[in-house]
Amino acid sequence: MNQIQKEFLEIVADVRAHLEYQRALGVKSIETGLSNIQTPIVRPVAGKEKTVVAAESPPVVKETAKPVTTANSVQPMTLEAIREEIGDCTRCKLHTGRKTIVFGEGNPKAVIVFVGEGPGFEEDEQGRPFVGEAGQLLTDIIVKGMKLKREDVYICNIVKCRPPGNRNPEPDEVESCIGFVKKQIRAINPKVIVTLGNVPTQNLLGTKQGITKIRGAWHTYEGIPLMPTFHPAYLLRSPGEKGKVWEDIQKVMGCLGIAVPAK
Ligand code: URA
Repeated sequence: MNQIQKEFLEIVADVRAHLEYQRALGVKSIETGLSNIQTPIVRPVAGKEKTVVAAESPPVVKETAKPVTTANSVQPMTLEAIREEIGDCTRCKLHTGRKTIVFGEGNPKAVIVFVGEGPGFEEDEQGRPFVGEAGQLLTDIIVKGMKLKREDVYICNIVKCRPPGNRNPEPDEVESCIGFVKKQIRAINPKVIVTLGNVPTQNLLGTKQGITKIRGAWHTYEGIPLMPTFHPAYLLRSPGEKGKVWEDIQKVMGCLGIAVPAK
């Protein structure tokens, strides 16, 4: 038996052990959203509102996120409806300097949502999140590191309009806008959220702890496992920290059952 065959058999054994573990927990079916994901986190089985997180990730039993409701319906709000609600927004002062509202993009059923702070110059020009230099680094993390396609995941920001000079969004701007990213997360109901840097981490978790302290450890947002890590723009300035982000991303991959490539 050659090395590849051995590794393949090891993977099969791991998957089998994992599925047996899930069955022992009472899980009856597993939804796989992506071709290379053997998802260990399981959507609610009919009638049960519980989701179990795999052993290698935090032992969280998740209540399914409450649907976003409109006046006449109990259906979760769709991303289209959320975008419509934003409209040609003038809720905060950022609207005066923006060219485009950068809503977010990706798979509406993504198992992973990345949340940044706000659009930069290039994002404002193109109307798409993370398409500048920092965005290229995030894309590399997704594509080269996680072996996913950018279209498989969902990428959005805390504020939808570019803060002038790429400064951090101010508290009143965050307050005007954060409801929309929360609705986006509820609409997608991902299995994992990754927050990039201080702004999304502190605002979604309601903490003042800095990213250096808080990164790399599991948290939850509305019952969804959340992994804070450094913002890719920080990595452009401090490339020596890339290893820490890769550690965090490997934890996310483990939680989603994505194979981590051997070195
Ligand atoms: N930085 C962010 O936080 N978001 C983007 O979309 C781009 C850069």
